[in-house]
Amino acid sequence: MTQPIAVKDDPWEMAQRQFWQVARRLSLRRGLPELLATPQRELTIRFPVRMDDGTIRVFTGYRVHHSLVLGPTKGGIRYHQDVTLNEVRALAMWMTWKCALVNLPYGGAKGGVVVDPRRLSPGELERMTRRFASEISILMNPQGDIPAPDVGTNDQIMAWIMDTYSMHIGQPISAVVTGKPVLVGGSLGRKEATGRGLMIAAREAARLLGLPWRGATVVVQGFGNVGSATARLMWEEGCCVIAVSDVRGGICDPRGLDVPALQQHVAATGSVVGFPGTTPISNRDVLDLPCTFLVPAALEGQITGENADRLQAQVIVEGANGPTTPDADAILEARGITVVPDILANSGGVIVSYFEWVQDLQYFFWSEDDINRRLERLMVRGVHEVAALAQSQGISFRLAALQRAVQRVASALATRGIYP
Ligand code: NAD
Repeated sequence: MTQPIAVKDDPWEMAQRQFWQVARRLSLRRGLPELLATPQRELTIRFPVRMDDGTIRVFTGYRVHHSLVLGPTKGGIRYHQDVTLNEVRALAMWMTWKCALVNLPYGGAKGGVVVDPRRLSPGELERMTRRFASEISILMNPQGDIPAPDVGTNDQIMAWIMDTYSMHIGQPISAVVTGKPVLVGGSLGRKEATGRGLMIAAREAARLLGLPWRGATVVVQGFGNVGSATARLMWEEGCCVIAVSDVRGGICDPRGLDVPALQQHVAATGSVVGFPGTTPISNRDVLDLPCTFLVPAALEGQITGENADRLQAQVIVEGANGPTTPDADAILEARGITVVPDILANSGGVIVSYFEWVQDLQYFFWSEDDINRRLERLMVRGVHEVAALAQSQGISFRLAALQRAVQRVASALATRGIYP
């Protein structure tokens, strides 16, 4: 029951299949698809950290820049025991498409360290973070590459990265990383931005598909930064959150969960498991529940060719990056289940990260209302533009979103030209 989910399909293979499916539909100049199909730079680091007991432990970390065509690279840093170079490559490529789709002046990047952060003491976590930040500072800077949080990292870790970089430079440089605490140059609204964007994407999908919004049932896999904010904001909108899960297992109540009380339970116990009045459910079974919206918000490769025909959701709104494999996409499309794809649905995070970066560069900070209004505008426009393209070409939302994004990057590349 408490078994954690495993990532079975290779995310890089998934990202490649998605890319080539789109590249074949666009008539791009010869050579461009081959260029866009591979990361521009990849850094693998082996670095030492002094542990609390005095021993030295060597960690492996990565930072991959997939594309610098549209601007400096942007993408989170993941701390997870299953991080691989291929996973980081895939996540970096998806960041390129995500930023291009919502018109941000960024290319895509991603970073990761092979570590289970829950097994480090606070001191070890800080030393590991600072050493990793130091190692990637040959790539990271406010004009070139700006990291952010992802699975297993948070605002405190971003503050350490900002401080480490600033110590190297000799002055405070808050724009080097986003997702920081507000106190050190973070943006209001950033913490729940990905969840807010997902809520808006779900609401607009309901509008487009003629589904009821208030009272819509919601299932969320993964109750971290993204999953919990999405559940909370959809609950505030009057949706009925019937099941959620995290790495320790899931809980279900068909009458609807009291999400604020659940968040308090998680703050006190570290997991959704054991929330009073609920039935336990596995991470796998949670995906099969009948619901209006299924929000996968943990890891990639969860909805596959093996379970896609069992799903009973009407709409899948992808909080995680790459939660649905190409095999599953084909099955879901044939079954008439709408997928609001990751690069669109979870783009609220990078949108508000962009706002944070702009505020840091200008030393001028906006109100939360301002931020949420701008986010709302970009998300609503994104969903409706993708839906219109999907409808006019008779293709899925995923294909439409990727097509717009890849076309934009390819056009920018053609306009910049090939150096020398
Ligand atoms: P997080 O670390 O805050 O939360 C991850 C959640 O998934 C936790 O509830 C954790 O218990 C669960 N989880 C992790 N491994 C699991 C496993 N093996 N089995 C079951 N559950 C597991 O991370 P997050 O920032 O919420 O990111 C979640 C997803 O959203 C990732 O795919 C990430 O790339 C994506 N994403 C994050 C952001 C962001 O702003 N943080 C933005 C866009 C997309």
